[in-house]
Amino acid sequence: MHIADTYNKKDTVLSFEIFPPKKDSALKNIDATLEVLCKENPDFISVTFGAGGSSNNNKTIEIANKIKNQYGIEPMVHLTCLSYEKSEIDDFYKVLKENNIENILALRGDRNPNVEEKNDFKHASDLTSYIKAKGDFCVAGACYPEVHPEADNSIVDIRNLKKKVDAGADFLVSQLFFNNDEFYRFQEKCAIAGIDVPISAGIMPVTNKSQIERMVTMCGATLPDRFKKIMEKYQDNQEALFDAGLAYAISQVIDLIASGVDGIHLYTMNNPVVARRICDGIKNLI
Ligand code: FAD
Repeated sequence: MHIADTYNKKDTVLSFEIFPPKKDSALKNIDATLEVLCKENPDFISVTFGAGGSSNNNKTIEIANKIKNQYGIEPMVHLTCLSYEKSEIDDFYKVLKENNIENILALRGDRNPNVEEKNDFKHASDLTSYIKAKGDFCVAGACYPEVHPEADNSIVDIRNLKKKVDAGADFLVSQLFFNNDEFYRFQEKCAIAGIDVPISAGIMPVTNKSQIERMVTMCGATLPDRFKKIMEKYQDNQEALFDAGLAYAISQVIDLIASGVDGIHLYTMNNPVVARRICDGIKNLI
């Protein structure tokens, strides 16, 4: 099933994101994770993909296959292109077809000095048009409410996002953010630019201290005072931080749903308890 059709049928599409565990031993635990996640009956589950040369990428397809055939939930496979030639993307395409996978999140991938870049695909929009030309996949794209770090400014970034949509992206999934106002301003800019495909809002519940540190150094998302206050107060109390981080994420989701967001995409960090608690908190809203 093409996920884009779900946005036509439902007020708010609910999705989860998981990543393939690095260790083979941890791969066994993915079943326990999927069991809990799939009971929440999300509209789709997306599985991340290494930026290049990663042997873990076969696991992405293996897990997506499980999600579809064992649990009956629609999977979306992330696919990066910066370090691949067309022939290699053709090989992935074949495997995806063999596994009955119909939904791809087409990504450029982060630049990494340890991974060689190839010349066939420079931007996610190149991969989007390449896959769309093959005809039978639903293709999503990533978007950045607080601007992609390499873009000079939001106008340039939105213009580039429009190119991705014109290349055939059927819907968009956003980078995580903690300030809903940033997302609403982004939605407005998209509307002005003529970007009219559904946009799912990326929400990451921050429930442990190492996540806080990563957020601050890596993702560039604005941290509102309300969020900072909670993190400062509870960062050394694991249980309290877990509750407070979940409550913050739930309040974000409730506000987004009340504001008519097209979809909520939960970055689960493979933690099924987090996903279950969020779903409990919004079960009568979606
Ligand atoms: P692009 O859309 O190509 O954008 C990258 C930069 O190029 C932007 O600054 C943009 O403004 C500019 N640009 C875009 N198109 C053009 C154009 N036509 N002309 C000129 N400039 C242009 N990474 C992984 O490695 N694996 C994953 O599984 C993964 N999953 C992700 C899921 C989501 C929801 C998100 C938001 C990100 C994910 N990423 C993942 C990270 C992503 O690969 C990086 O953010 C990467 O730096 C950009 O990828 P993109 O597809 O958005 O690139």
